[in-house]
Amino acid sequence: MIKDIVLDMLFPRRCPVCDSVLPFGGDLICEDCSKKLRNVREPRCRKCGRMLTGAGKEYCPDCENVRHGFERAVSAFVYNDAMQDAIFRFKYQGRQEYADFFAESMSKYLGRELRGFGAEALIPVPLHKDRLKKRGYNQAVLLSERLGKIMGIRVEKDLVKRVRATAPQKTLTREERRKNLKKAFKLSGNGVKLTKVIIVDDIYTTGSTVDEISDLLRVAGVRSVYVATVCSGTPL
Ligand SMILES: [Zn+2]
Ligand SMILES: [Zn+2]
Repeated sequence: MIKDIVLDMLFPRRCPVCDSVLPFGGDLICEDCSKKLRNVREPRCRKCGRMLTGAGKEYCPDCENVRHGFERAVSAFVYNDAMQDAIFRFKYQGRQEYADFFAESMSKYLGRELRGFGAEALIPVPLHKDRLKKRGYNQAVLLSERLGKIMGIRVEKDLVKRVRATAPQKTLTREERRKNLKKAFKLSGNGVKLTKVIIVDDIYTTGSTVDEISDLLRVAGVRSVYVATVCSGTPL
């Protein structure tokens, strides 16, 4: 407790949307800023969990054509402009404390679904060690640890390793993404004794990364792989 107070004074908590300093002990986001975020609502794609633009469909165009390695993905927020800024600072500008707001939101909006998955562990999408060294932290690990604590699910942060540094995915097509990720991940140790897991990441884009990890886990004997992210883009 004392430690928390001292830390809060040294590193005042900031709003994930506008980055201004928040009052001590208050909410994790400004009231006005919380209105700028949009929750993912129904209708959602039954596979990737992204918000569908029209009613009457079960799957997004993407999931109609691609066979994903995971059972189901869910995300709390739509990746709009406000969320884009928040994720950028969270990943690249050292705003590690945003993990508290993100994990709390994931638990608040996705908690029931996540519990329903019955997973034994959360698995953060790993960073390659060179990138981890440069960035200083893995945002997916921060999210997993906070979420795991809130939900009482253990975190397996060393199970999946990123063994190949891959080119940034942003500008690549789906095919190029999959090729780029081939053999990028590896399981550490021998044997996975888990049957259901949830992969945790900051954003769901095409699902290529989580597909790759899902395949790896399922080959190792994990029966069901789920995915939980802070946000997701809307499919075209
Ligand atoms: Zn704000
Ligand atoms: Zn989909």
